[in-house]
Amino acid sequence: MDLGFTPEEESFRHEVRTWLKANLPAAWRQDGKGGYRDEEDTQLQRDWQRKLYEGGWLKLGWPKDVGGRGATPVMQAIYQEEMARSGAPGILGRLGVTLLAPTLLAHGTAWQKEAYVERILSGELIFCQGFSEPDAGSDLAGLRARAERRDGKWVLNGQKTWSSGAHYSDKSFLLARTDAGAEPHRGIGFFLVDMHQPGVEVRRIKQMTGGGEFGEIFLSGAEVEERDLVGQPGDGWKIAMTVFGFERGGLAQAARFEQAVNELAALARERGAGTDATTRQKIAQARIEAHVFRLIGLRNLTRAQHGHAPGPEASVTKLYWSEMDKRLQEAAVGVEGMYGALTPDSAYAIEDGRWQYGWMWAQAETIYAGSSEIQRNIIAERVLGLPRGR
Ligand SMILES: Cc1cc2nc3c(=O)[nH]c(=O)nc-3n(C[C@H](O)[C@H](O)[C@H](O)COP(=O)(O)OP(=O)(O)OC[C@H]3O[C@@H](n4cnc5c(N)ncnc54)[C@H](O)[C@@H]3O)c2cc1C
Repeated sequence: MDLGFTPEEESFRHEVRTWLKANLPAAWRQDGKGGYRDEEDTQLQRDWQRKLYEGGWLKLGWPKDVGGRGATPVMQAIYQEEMARSGAPGILGRLGVTLLAPTLLAHGTAWQKEAYVERILSGELIFCQGFSEPDAGSDLAGLRARAERRDGKWVLNGQKTWSSGAHYSDKSFLLARTDAGAEPHRGIGFFLVDMHQPGVEVRRIKQMTGGGEFGEIFLSGAEVEERDLVGQPGDGWKIAMTVFGFERGGLAQAARFEQAVNELAALARERGAGTDATTRQKIAQARIEAHVFRLIGLRNLTRAQHGHAPGPEASVTKLYWSEMDKRLQEAAVGVEGMYGALTPDSAYAIEDGRWQYGWMWAQAETIYAGSSEIQRNIIAERVLGLPRGR
C-alpha cells in the first residue's frame, strides 16, 4: 500500500488548492451540513457545477481523446479530498455527472454522447435516477415498470420511488421491463426519459429531516424516442451494473470524517462534556475509525492505481463508512444532551441543528447504494467464501 504522494501529485494538490482559493466564494462553503438541506442550495449547486465545468474539473479522470485530462486515480482522489477539505458545496447534476455521463461513454450511441454528455457536465440538463420501485429496491431485478414499443416509440407505465432530485430534474435514466416473458435480469431496458411531459408526474416525499429531496415518479403512457434507449432493449441490467460501478467513496469522505471528528471534539469542549469518560471514549473511537477509513481509502487507491477494478471489497468500504457515520452523529447528538432532542429548525438548536440533521441523514446512509445487510451478504459470500444464505 502506498502511504505517500509523489512530488507531481503534491504539485497537483497545490494546483487544486490555488484554483479553489480563487474560485470558491467564502459564502458558498458548507458548514458541515449534509444532504441537500436548503431548498435554495439548488441554485448554488447549479452555479458551482458551472464553475467546475468551466474550470475543466468535471472531466478530470476522463481519457484525453474524449476531452478529459487523463488524471490518475490518485489525482482524482486528491481533487475530491481538496474539495471536501475546502467545504465546497455539492453539484446539482451529481447523478448525471458521476453516474450517467461515464456510463454513456461506455454504452451510448454516437448521437447520445453528442446530445447529452457536455450538457450533463455543464448543468444544462439535470438527470435523476429512476431505478427503485415500491417493491424493488435491494432486489432491483424485481422491477415492474413496463416499456412497450408502439408506433416507433417506447411507451412507459409504472411507478418509481426514492428518486433523488426528481422534482428539479429535466430527464431521468430509468429502468423498465421491455420483455415480460424474459428472466428477471434480462428483458430490462435503460431509457433516458424526458421528465417534462404529460405522462410523467412527480410527487415529492417528505422526510423526517424536514426536507423533500426525493420523489415518486408515476409513468402513465410516458413516451421515449427510440434514440433514447441506451444499448439494446434487453441490456438494461448490464448497463445498470456499469452505473453501480461508479458509485464509490474514497479519500474525500475520509477528509470529511476527520473534519467532523475535530468539530465534534470542539463541541464536547464547548459543552463541558470533554471530561466525561464515556464521551471521551466515543470521540477517541471516532478518530480511530476515521483514520482506519483513510487507510482503507489508500488501500483501494493503490489497487486502482495498479489498474485493478474495485472488487467485492468495495462493500467493506460502503459498510464501514456508513456505519461509522451513524456512530459519529449519535455521539454528537449525545454531547448536546437535552438539546440533541430538538428538531434541527428549532430556534434553540445548537449549531443550527446540524448534528440532529446529520444524525437523521445518517440513517439513510446504511440504505442507499446497497444497504448494510446487502453489503454483509456480499462480504460473506464473495470475500469470505461463506455459503449463500437463504
Ligand atoms: C438517501 C437515498 C437516496 C436514494 N436515491 C435513489 C435514487 O436517486 N434513485 C433510485 O432509484 N433509488 C434511490 N434510493 C433507493 C435505494 O436504492 C433503495 O432504498 C435501496 O436499494 C433499498 O431498497 P428498499 O428501500 O426497497 O429496501 P428493501 O430492499 O425493501 O429492504 C428492506 C430491508 O430488508 C433488508 N434486505 C433486503 N434484502 C435482503 C437480503 N437479501 N438479505 C438481508 N437483508 C435484506 C434491507 O437491508 C433493508 O434493511 C435512495 C435511497 C436513499 C435512502
